[in-house]
Amino acid sequence: MTDKIENLVVGGGAMGLSIAYGLMKKGREAHVLEGAYLNAGSTGRGLGVLKERNPYAMGNGNEDLVKLAREGLRLHGSLSSVMGINTFHKKSGCLIVAKNEQDLRELREDHEHFVKLGLKDIEMTPEEVQAKWPYIDSESILAGFYSPDEANAHPFGLVWAYLENLKRMGGKVEKENKVKEIKKTSDGFLVKAQSGDYEAENVIVASAIDSSGLTEPLGYKIPMTPMRKEVLISEAVRPFFGPTIERLSTHLQVTQTMRGEIMGTIDWMEPGHDLSENTTQFLNNLADALVPVVPVLRNLNVIRQWTGICDLTPDEKPAIGQLEECLYVCCGFHDYGITMVPIVGKLLSETIIKKKTERMLEPFDPKRFD
Ligand SMILES: Cc1cc2nc3c(=O)[nH]c(=O)nc-3n(C[C@H](O)[C@H](O)[C@H](O)COP(=O)(O)OP(=O)(O)OC[C@H]3O[C@@H](n4cnc5c(N)ncnc54)[C@H](O)[C@@H]3O)c2cc1C
Repeated sequence: MTDKIENLVVGGGAMGLSIAYGLMKKGREAHVLEGAYLNAGSTGRGLGVLKERNPYAMGNGNEDLVKLAREGLRLHGSLSSVMGINTFHKKSGCLIVAKNEQDLRELREDHEHFVKLGLKDIEMTPEEVQAKWPYIDSESILAGFYSPDEANAHPFGLVWAYLENLKRMGGKVEKENKVKEIKKTSDGFLVKAQSGDYEAENVIVASAIDSSGLTEPLGYKIPMTPMRKEVLISEAVRPFFGPTIERLSTHLQVTQTMRGEIMGTIDWMEPGHDLSENTTQFLNNLADALVPVVPVLRNLNVIRQWTGICDLTPDEKPAIGQLEECLYVCCGFHDYGITMVPIVGKLLSETIIKKKTERMLEPFDPKRFD
């Protein structure tokens, strides 16, 4: 048993590290227990596309996700200089293409919503798109909706930046130390982990899809469905890609990394936990959707394919905040969490310190599913 820890964070993904960083920056103690290795979770499998035009905000008819995403995007812009470590942030922009009339209708509805919220969402004709990015075939699209403000970052760079800053401030991050159980005691919590027991004043569960397994025995179920999402990466080619290209209805998202690889994802596969299975169906779907839009990619060699798990809540919004005094949770970020990492870490650490939920986090009350 160690001395009582002020803030024990369960999960060393980008969210857990960002919360610990926010606490340490304000002079508090933080100790992170990661069950596997850093980047073992969805952070290490993400593309790192940073978007404020959050598509899930639409169906929910609210502005909350957009606000969080917008602030996250803004903070990402200065992270490398604030942290002194390169997060490989690049303001590359993002172009959402309409391939058919239904796409166009939806994107125009979204456009109204985004513009009302003060976001940049510029409608472009196919000809305007091709004039700006000649590798896009204008005949394959009906329109494009462009944001020059959206960006990319490297999820590994983000994790290293938080880790190094945590270490510098005296924070502790233990790897391969899985938390098995959290028990309430008369004056805090007893956290039972693989390498021993820990007494903690505050516990923050940031274990993505595994969070509910830890909070449910304490009486707090966070309903989440694990969704498999596949990604592929190609051989490196000369840097020519401008913005990330997206198509809403198929979840196509393709970008070029700083090394020149083309990296992309498309569609939801079956709900499931299996990380080992990569499908040719995914490969074919992605090629079928991408090649007509960017024909020059026709003969590109794919080098690697992998799967990640998204933690999907019933209303597609995350669960962030207090469950009971001194117990907090932060999960359910689906496929858009990397964008929100810096702002969520900031707001949740402030919530913990002030013992009062920050206004921007109120819509994400983790107890709303009761
Ligand atoms: C394929 C894919 C692509 C994506 N692309 C993007 C994108 O382009 N842009 C974007 O903004 N978002 C994207 N996302 C979403 C984003 O990756 C996640 O929302 C974000 O990384 C979540 O961070 P996290 O820290 O909550 O979770 P994780 O990174 O999963 O971290 C949780 C950690 O908790 C640990 N853990 C679990 N149980 C325990 C336990 N009992 N004890 C200790 N540790 C435990 C895990 O090992 C893990 O390291 C993508 C997601 C996927 C799967």
